[in-house]
Amino acid sequence: MSSWCKQIPSLPLIPPHQVPSIPGPIEVSDEVRFYINTVVDTAEGQPFLIAGSGTLGWDQTAANLVEPGENALVLHSGYFGDSFTDWYDNYVPSLVPALMIFSSLETYGANVDQLKAKIGAAVSQEDIESALKSKKYKLLTFTHVDTSTAVLSNAKAIAETIALDGVCSVASEEIHMDTWDIDIILSASQKGLGTPPGLSILVASKRAMQVCTLTSSFPKLNLTPIGPGIQFQENPCNLVLRWLPIMKAYESGNAAYFATPPVNLIYAFHASLSKITKSAPSLADRYKLHREASQRVKEAATELGLKQLPLQPAFAANGMTALYYPEGLSAGDILPRLAKKGIVVAGGLHTEIKDKYFRIGHMGITAVEESRGDVDTVIKALKETLAEARATATYPSQQLARDQNNLNQFTNTVSARARL
Ligand SMILES: *Cc1c(COP(=O)(O)O)cnc(C)c1O
Repeated sequence: MSSWCKQIPSLPLIPPHQVPSIPGPIEVSDEVRFYINTVVDTAEGQPFLIAGSGTLGWDQTAANLVEPGENALVLHSGYFGDSFTDWYDNYVPSLVPALMIFSSLETYGANVDQLKAKIGAAVSQEDIESALKSKKYKLLTFTHVDTSTAVLSNAKAIAETIALDGVCSVASEEIHMDTWDIDIILSASQKGLGTPPGLSILVASKRAMQVCTLTSSFPKLNLTPIGPGIQFQENPCNLVLRWLPIMKAYESGNAAYFATPPVNLIYAFHASLSKITKSAPSLADRYKLHREASQRVKEAATELGLKQLPLQPAFAANGMTALYYPEGLSAGDILPRLAKKGIVVAGGLHTEIKDKYFRIGHMGITAVEESRGDVDTVIKALKETLAEARATATYPSQQLARDQNNLNQFTNTVSARARL
């Protein structure tokens, strides 16, 4: 074996079993299952790891948990709530043909009601309760952290038959699937879980698996671009018929095939998960480090005169921060200057206000590996950028004086802290 080969960390061995030596699926450690269950804190949740992005989780949820004609309630705290409801209706053929297949609840024939929060807020508990009293809903979905607004919803308070979109929250926000009684957690590899994109991760509770089993025996209404059609059990999203046997086979080290797994990503995911769940800092400390990093970014932003998009601290995510541009400045004043300093942030995404704000991610190693100094680097770049932008922009002089004053105070506080 050449020496570079020896450096590749080996996966823990699965107890003796038949070795799948076939052209296609290969050995996958069943440890991945235990690790992912640790991250979402469930004893018996069934994970499904499938090639695809987070968006695939909406299809999996819609295809397996609701029948055509059944009611679903979607809590909306930003862009991703719309996507879950009617991605299909929003589809613009000439721009995003690939999204055609990523239809969601309405595409699968559910009657969807949306409970929409004010921009920057999560749906209130009272609104959820009165909606649940007014009608029988088979499914309630919500976005734990809506990445378009950085709004965190209180997952603990919501629980019913529930699907949680955790694409932006898993591993950066606390999740306790069993105690919070959540049925489906859908996520993706590339955000808080720190793996390259391309792996859809869905964990289904025992109850969800029962619902899926019943639901799967019904034909599905399938709205295709050329009109409605009926699709039977061969729906490739069918968790019970299509994917459960595959997951069980992986777990017992046997070969099974339905569609080729992204083996490279599963290896990368294994490496990320073992770091998150087995090495220091512990999972609990990771959440704490995310809260601290978030607080530092948010405090610095406030000192610099930037207003957060979430209306209250209780609605603010810990893995990211969404900030309005200050008056008189826009994306063109801020984002290119940050990029020149090596900091790439995201523009706005919420359709109603997308030119008015930007988003900073601080999840995964950025928050956890403090020695990297990422949070300091971002704050420093943001501070310099605002100073430059304010110096050149036609900026209301009163506002300028106020912000300059805030900035001076902030600098004093920081240097006072540094002296301590
Ligand atoms: C990114 C994201 C998605 C979509 O995930 P993709 O991997 O881009 O398909 C869905 N929901 C939320 C909350 C997200 O942040």
